[in-house]
Amino acid sequence: MIGLAGITKRYGAHTALDRVDLDIQPATTTALIGPSGCGKSTLLRVILGLIEPDSGSVSIEGRGLASWDRRELRRRFGYAIQSGGLFPHLTARQNIELPAMAHHVPLDARRIAQLAELTHMDPELLDRFPAELSGGQRHRVALVRALVLDPDILLLDEPLGALDPMVRADLQHDLRALFDELNKTVVLVTHDLAEAAYLAPRDILLLREGRIVQRGPFAELRERPADAFVTRFIEAQTGRVAALVGAGP
Ligand code: ADP
Repeated sequence: MIGLAGITKRYGAHTALDRVDLDIQPATTTALIGPSGCGKSTLLRVILGLIEPDSGSVSIEGRGLASWDRRELRRRFGYAIQSGGLFPHLTARQNIELPAMAHHVPLDARRIAQLAELTHMDPELLDRFPAELSGGQRHRVALVRALVLDPDILLLDEPLGALDPMVRADLQHDLRALFDELNKTVVLVTHDLAEAAYLAPRDILLLREGRIVQRGPFAELRERPADAFVTRFIEAQTGRVAALVGAGP
């Protein structure tokens, strides 16, 4: 459903993505993981068409990005970023309504109420401004906004970044239930291996310096690391993985 072939993206002399080939199947959850600066967000933004690669091609449902009507394509994507990306001068409800307005899609209060329920968001919060919400609540609003047009593909860039551990654990739990229930194609960026193993246990993609070092289920990365970097990356985070997904195979 999502295909990248030979994607290279440079910023001056720095290569952010280096000949990346990638296929992502429909209705699967994939976690992009790796050290800060390895190209995770750039990869996500290339898929979304926000960044034009220097070379290589992106296809969605077998069609090259260029052949898509950009607006039609954007409707198929839900996108949420670490800070939530909410407009401060709009209430939570108005933020959620924005994609529907941009695409001239009628949106009734029932749909918002359903999504609030699905994401365990208190509907009373809908009429507050972002500054009147906690970090966790802002993330839930951003998630509802990403889901409001019922996109096929959900792209989440560090969706739980910058949250305190307990709020983060709650949201991790809810996100996993949501992915199971909605059966969408999800690609999420995280630097936290435990989160990747919990949310995308069957498909983790480890990047280093713009290249895919290893891709596979979490158990495979742990038991058959492709190289010493994978081993080091996993060992450095193993305590947290054990706490969230268990230490055993
Ligand atoms: P990650 O999400 O893995 O932390 P990014 O994809 O954000 O990494 O960035 C990959 C590399 O590209 C980093 O070295 C970053 O500094 C660089 N980079 C990203 N965006 C820009 C930009 N707009 N201009 C210059 N360099 C950039």
